[in-house]
Amino acid sequence: MSAEFGATPWGRVWVRTVESTVAAAPNPALPKARSLARNHAATLSVEAGRVEAEVVVSGVTHQVRIDLPNWSDREQAEAERLIGKALGDHLGLAAGDLPDSLEADLRRDNIGVAVPLDEMEAVCPCRTRRRPCVHVLATLYTLSQRIDERPMLAVELRSPGWEPTAPSDPDWTPLGDLDAEDFYGA
Ligand SMILES: [Zn+2]
Repeated sequence: MSAEFGATPWGRVWVRTVESTVAAAPNPALPKARSLARNHAATLSVEAGRVEAEVVVSGVTHQVRIDLPNWSDREQAEAERLIGKALGDHLGLAAGDLPDSLEADLRRDNIGVAVPLDEMEAVCPCRTRRRPCVHVLATLYTLSQRIDERPMLAVELRSPGWEPTAPSDPDWTPLGDLDAEDFYGA
């Protein structure tokens, strides 16, 4: 399997979501969407429960918005427990990284990292009749790349207001100990 999309289990579950559209019939929009993502046509802004993107195709900008359900309280509590444990077990991880085994642990616990296409609300002003359109698909492929680069994004996407609990890593600085204004350069 190509590592271009889904190089980590975190990005891979999102790629599978996108490619689940193939189940019914081959979708010609998929190769086109991959090509757009590969060529950085989609510029994303991501927050908990929402992905917004500007997708530029042949000089035309399409404003895509995708709303995702948050984890339920049960999923959130269980995810926090598993993530805290995983971070404690893998102290050498780079900031934003998560161990691959954690994705399997979440899956085993029925905590979905990715959201099935029929549970997300995707809006694109283009006139394509086939949904999801190529702009939404390109946004999701780009999202999978961003998640491969920084797996923590997959968790943040599903959990509003969540902050990782502190593992006992001497190099780790709790966000609350930093001056927020200096930290964000505001
Ligand atoms: Zn579109």
